[in-house]
Amino acid sequence: MANTYQLDIVTPEGLVFSEPIEHLRAPGIEGSFGVLVGHTPFMTSLTIGKVDLMQNNKQRALATSGGFIEVNPDRAVILAETAEFVEDIDLDRAEAALQRAKDRIEGKQLDTDLNRAQVSLGRAVNRISIARMTR
Ligand code: ATP
Repeated sequence: MANTYQLDIVTPEGLVFSEPIEHLRAPGIEGSFGVLVGHTPFMTSLTIGKVDLMQNNKQRALATSGGFIEVNPDRAVILAETAEFVEDIDLDRAEAALQRAKDRIEGKQLDTDLNRAQVSLGRAVNRISIARMTR
């Protein structure tokens, strides 16, 4: 049996990745999990976090937010709200987004959507930590 399976990563903006891989690790809402070829079918939601891929024995990482994954023995599909490979993360942009979110949360204006600001802060912190960890 082949030791690879097809992985598609799709966001509302389009197809981010569509290639065979050996392994992935994804941030499920109930914890991080790994998927090898031949995995039992399942589906779960994903949190803001890091997706690690093993392809041709090389590791690649993406910052992702939200969405879900569908796993089948020969194919997995990640439908994420956002997904950027670590090398595509714009650190300055993420730091500016973090500062904006902090200002909104600390400013506590009556019209602030606190939940939205916190999720935005989470995406920014995730991008920054993944970019720093791997550069
Ligand atoms: P910003 O306020 O900087 O747009 P955001 O968290 O609101 O940050 P998102 O809504 O999560 O942005 O993402 C919008 C689009 O921009 C997505 O396609 C996402 O992949 C991309 N994106 C957002 N931040 C970055 C970043 N720091 N580096 C690279 N791509 C990013």
